[in-house]
Amino acid sequence: MENIYDIVVIGSGPGGYVAAIRAAQLGYKTAIVEKYSTLGGTCTNVGCIPSKALLDSTEHYHTAQTKFDTHGISIENLKINFDQLMKRKAGVVNQNISGLNYLMKKNKIEIIEGKASFVNNSEISVLKNDGASHAVKGKYFIIATGSKPSTIKGVAIDKDRIITSTEALKLNEIPKSMAIIGGGVIGVEMASIYARIGVKVSILEYADSLIPSMDKELGKELKKILSKNSIEILLNHKVQSAQNNGSSVTINYIDGNDKNNALTVDYCLVAVGRKPYTEGLGLENTSIKLDDKGRIVTDNHLKTNEDNIYAIGDVIAGPMLAHKAEEEAVFVVETINGQKPHIDYNLIPNVVYTWPEIASVGFTEEQLKKENRSYRVGKFPFSASGRARAAMEYDGFVKVLSDTKYGELLGVHIIGPRAADLIAQAVIGMHYQTTDEDMFRISYAHPTYSEALKEAYLIASGQGAINL
Ligand code: FAD
Ligand code: NAD
Repeated sequence: MENIYDIVVIGSGPGGYVAAIRAAQLGYKTAIVEKYSTLGGTCTNVGCIPSKALLDSTEHYHTAQTKFDTHGISIENLKINFDQLMKRKAGVVNQNISGLNYLMKKNKIEIIEGKASFVNNSEISVLKNDGASHAVKGKYFIIATGSKPSTIKGVAIDKDRIITSTEALKLNEIPKSMAIIGGGVIGVEMASIYARIGVKVSILEYADSLIPSMDKELGKELKKILSKNSIEILLNHKVQSAQNNGSSVTINYIDGNDKNNALTVDYCLVAVGRKPYTEGLGLENTSIKLDDKGRIVTDNHLKTNEDNIYAIGDVIAGPMLAHKAEEEAVFVVETINGQKPHIDYNLIPNVVYTWPEIASVGFTEEQLKKENRSYRVGKFPFSASGRARAAMEYDGFVKVLSDTKYGELLGVHIIGPRAADLIAQAVIGMHYQTTDEDMFRISYAHPTYSEALKEAYLIASGQGAINL
């Protein structure tokens, strides 16, 4: 059976499903091809959604353990029901998958289950699980095949004891100990989940700080906070190998003093980044090129070497974030539609869902220094916020970087309660190229965490804080 669509989207993650919906909204006959039996890709099935579900559950437990007494609430026999915690997480994932099925139906998008492989630039062959395959033709194709976990030399992922985030999100027991290779986003989120429920967690990070690609002060503050929660943080550590001993894993590494050392734990989670996924996609039957990191090469319109084939999300260059993939999805469909969309990659926020949360947008202080830009800094600690004190949230700060001449916002970095939501106002401010003064001359409700932003804008402008 042969079908011809206006737009065929390959992959149903946040890039793919948003592209399909936008395409249908604009009147295109659209199909979405997904090799797994559930829609949603990494984000919905084994990424953003399940990790946030587990982060929320374990944070509730941790709060009950560490703060309830002070609030005057006593609970006897507080304990974790790990099966129920995992069951709720699975339920949340399923709700999101059902939501996507509903959206595909509502927008009359054809779902084609199976693995897509290009035959040429206008046809793919879709291989189903039962071995059958059929041809699907399209005027345009959007590749949104995402990414897979990567590893380092000497560490072979066996999905048993040497695991990735996918397995760590569905363990069926609470381990006694876990080593995490990589103190990036996945490393610190997974460390938070497991340390809160009593697992002895050690993070082995190659760089000299946690979340090293973000503003350095955030990593420093996070290290203090996670250390208070009994997470062992080993910076400047170079892992050499990991070996599965049956019921444990031994990790050999060179420590910060260049000494060989070893650590034996129940599980070793490898969180050293992800690699683009193009395996079996038949790109050799097209003129599409990959760069040295295996990412699909696109031009400024996210068009590949083939005029009718675009690529978006984790499989191309840029930050591997769900909302980046979503922006690119809309951008590509509107480009095909003859519109003139725009993405400002400097204004894509970055969020880490530890507690407190971390969120940032724009330039880091290190980037401004490197570029020899003159800037001023406004930093306000949450310990000086009335709202934060009421909630016993004493950790973290807001750091605003603005241009010395006019005060234009250059970067905003937050580590503190609800930072993930607070960052939105900084993104809006920067989108409209506002100054630190514009941002403090508006009213912020009292008492709110957002007042910490107002104070940081006041300090950056040179006027000075009210509450510090
Ligand atoms: P994906 O979501 O990876 O989807 C690609 C889809 O394509 C998959 O379903 C795959 O099966 C399918 N596919 C691949 N090849 C084929 C083929 N040949 N034929 C048919 N189908 C194919 N990002 C955030 O912004 N916020 C977060 O909180 C966050 N948390 C995360 C937590 C974890 C543990 C992980 C691993 C990632 C997290 N991310 C988060 C990153 C986010 O998941 C990705 O950036 C996002 O999913 C990328 O979307 P995508 O559409 O490009 O690809
Ligand atoms: P990452 O790039 O954030 O972190 C990888 C870390 O591993 C880095 O700190 C790096 O220095 C370290 N590392 C590399 N080689 C090492 C070695 N040999 N020994 C020790 N440490 C080493 O990657 P990740 O945490 O695996 O996450 C993958 C992607 O998923 C990221 O791009 C991220 O954007 C996305 N993600 C996003 C979120 C979120 O938005 N909240 C959550 C999870 C994942």
